[in-house]
Amino acid sequence: MSDDAFNQLVKRAISELSKDHVEALDHLSILIADEPSEVQLQKLKMRKDHMLLGLFEGVPRTRRSGYESGILPDTITIFKGPLTSLSSNDRDLYEHIKRTVWHEIAHYYGLSHEEMDERQRRNH
Ligand SMILES: [Zn+2]
Repeated sequence: MSDDAFNQLVKRAISELSKDHVEALDHLSILIADEPSEVQLQKLKMRKDHMLLGLFEGVPRTRRSGYESGILPDTITIFKGPLTSLSSNDRDLYEHIKRTVWHEIAHYYGLSHEEMDERQRRNH
Protein backbone atom coordinates (compact mmCIF):
# COMPACT_ATOMS: atom_id res chain seq x y z
CA MET A 1 0.00 0.00 0.00
CA SER A 2 1.27 3.50 -0.85
CA ASP A 3 1.89 6.10 1.84
CA ASP A 4 -0.86 8.19 0.32
CA ALA A 5 -3.44 5.44 0.52
CA PHE A 6 -2.39 4.69 4.10
CA ASN A 7 -2.68 8.38 4.98
CA GLN A 8 -6.19 8.44 3.63
CA LEU A 9 -7.17 5.48 5.81
CA VAL A 10 -5.75 7.16 8.91
CA LYS A 11 -7.57 10.41 8.10
CA ARG A 12 -10.80 8.52 7.63
CA ALA A 13 -10.33 6.70 10.94
CA ILE A 14 -9.70 9.99 12.75
CA SER A 15 -12.73 11.72 11.30
CA GLU A 16 -14.93 8.75 12.10
CA LEU A 17 -13.62 8.57 15.65
CA SER A 18 -13.95 12.28 16.26
CA LYS A 19 -17.63 12.03 15.42
CA ASP A 20 -18.27 9.19 17.85
CA HIS A 21 -15.87 9.36 20.76
CA VAL A 22 -13.63 12.33 20.60
CA GLU A 23 -14.03 16.02 21.27
CA ALA A 24 -11.59 18.62 20.01
CA LEU A 25 -8.19 17.29 19.10
CA ASP A 26 -6.45 20.61 19.51
CA HIS A 27 -2.72 20.47 20.25
CA LEU A 28 -2.56 16.95 18.94
CA SER A 29 -0.59 16.03 15.83
CA ILE A 30 -1.10 12.67 14.26
CA LEU A 31 1.92 11.44 12.33
CA ILE A 32 2.62 8.38 10.26
CA ALA A 33 5.91 6.47 10.26
CA ASP A 34 6.99 3.19 8.73
CA GLU A 35 8.52 1.80 11.92
CA PRO A 36 9.21 3.12 15.44
CA SER A 37 12.47 5.08 15.75
CA GLU A 38 15.29 4.07 18.11
CA VAL A 39 14.22 6.77 20.55
CA GLN A 40 10.63 5.60 20.47
CA LEU A 41 11.73 2.00 21.03
CA GLN A 42 13.66 3.11 24.10
CA LYS A 43 10.48 4.67 25.47
CA LEU A 44 8.53 1.54 24.66
CA LYS A 45 10.93 -0.49 26.78
CA MET A 46 10.18 1.74 29.70
CA ARG A 47 6.46 1.41 29.15
CA LYS A 48 5.95 -2.20 28.24
CA ASP A 49 2.21 -1.76 27.91
CA HIS A 50 2.51 -0.50 24.38
CA MET A 51 1.77 -2.13 21.10
CA LEU A 52 4.13 -1.18 18.32
CA LEU A 53 1.20 -0.13 16.19
CA GLY A 54 0.96 3.36 17.57
CA LEU A 55 2.50 5.61 20.16
CA PHE A 56 1.30 8.59 22.16
CA GLU A 57 3.98 11.05 23.24
CA GLY A 58 3.08 14.03 25.34
CA VAL A 59 1.18 15.05 28.41
CA PRO A 60 -2.32 13.64 28.84
CA ARG A 61 -4.92 16.41 29.01
CA THR A 62 -5.91 15.37 32.49
CA ARG A 63 -2.41 16.22 33.71
CA ARG A 64 -2.11 19.60 32.06
CA SER A 65 -2.20 22.85 33.94
CA GLY A 66 -3.61 24.75 30.99
CA TYR A 67 -0.87 27.38 30.80
CA GLU A 68 1.83 25.61 28.89
CA SER A 69 2.53 27.85 25.98
CA GLY A 70 5.57 27.02 23.93
CA ILE A 71 5.73 23.33 24.74
CA LEU A 72 5.81 20.80 21.95
CA PRO A 73 2.45 19.61 20.75
CA ASP A 74 1.39 16.14 21.79
CA THR A 75 1.96 13.57 19.13
CA ILE A 76 0.44 10.31 18.11
CA THR A 77 2.47 8.26 15.67
CA ILE A 78 0.81 5.51 13.67
CA PHE A 79 3.21 2.83 12.38
CA LYS A 80 2.49 1.74 8.86
CA GLY A 81 4.85 -1.25 8.71
CA PRO A 82 3.52 -3.26 11.66
CA LEU A 83 -0.10 -2.38 10.87
CA THR A 84 0.08 -3.49 7.25
CA SER A 85 1.92 -6.72 8.08
CA LEU A 86 -0.72 -7.51 10.70
CA SER A 87 -3.62 -7.03 8.29
CA SER A 88 -4.80 -9.45 5.65
CA ASN A 89 -6.75 -6.92 3.55
CA ASP A 90 -7.67 -3.24 3.36
CA ARG A 91 -10.79 -3.62 5.43
CA ASP A 92 -8.85 -5.44 8.14
CA LEU A 93 -6.16 -2.77 7.98
CA TYR A 94 -8.72 -0.02 8.40
CA GLU A 95 -10.11 -1.71 11.52
CA HIS A 96 -6.62 -2.03 13.00
CA ILE A 97 -5.86 1.60 12.22
CA LYS A 98 -9.09 2.72 13.81
CA ARG A 99 -8.44 0.71 16.96
CA THR A 100 -4.88 2.01 17.20
CA VAL A 101 -5.88 5.63 16.69
CA TRP A 102 -8.63 5.24 19.29
CA HIS A 103 -6.22 3.64 21.77
CA GLU A 104 -3.66 6.44 21.41
CA ILE A 105 -6.30 9.18 21.56
CA ALA A 106 -7.53 7.56 24.77
CA HIS A 107 -4.00 7.98 26.17
CA TYR A 108 -4.18 11.63 25.11
CA TYR A 109 -7.28 11.93 27.28
CA GLY A 110 -5.47 10.23 30.16
CA LEU A 111 -7.33 6.93 30.14
CA SER A 112 -5.66 3.88 31.63
CA HIS A 113 -5.78 0.54 29.84
CA GLU A 114 -8.36 -0.69 32.34
CA GLU A 115 -10.59 2.26 31.51
CA MET A 116 -10.10 1.63 27.79
CA ASP A 117 -11.14 -2.01 28.17
CA GLU A 118 -14.16 -0.91 30.14
CA ARG A 119 -15.24 1.58 27.47
CA GLN A 120 -14.76 -0.88 24.65
CA ARG A 121 -16.91 -3.42 26.44
CA ARG A 122 -19.64 -0.83 26.75
CA ASN A 123 -19.40 0.57 23.23
CA HIS A 124 -18.84 -2.49 21.13
ZN1 LIG B 1 -1.57 1.98 25.58
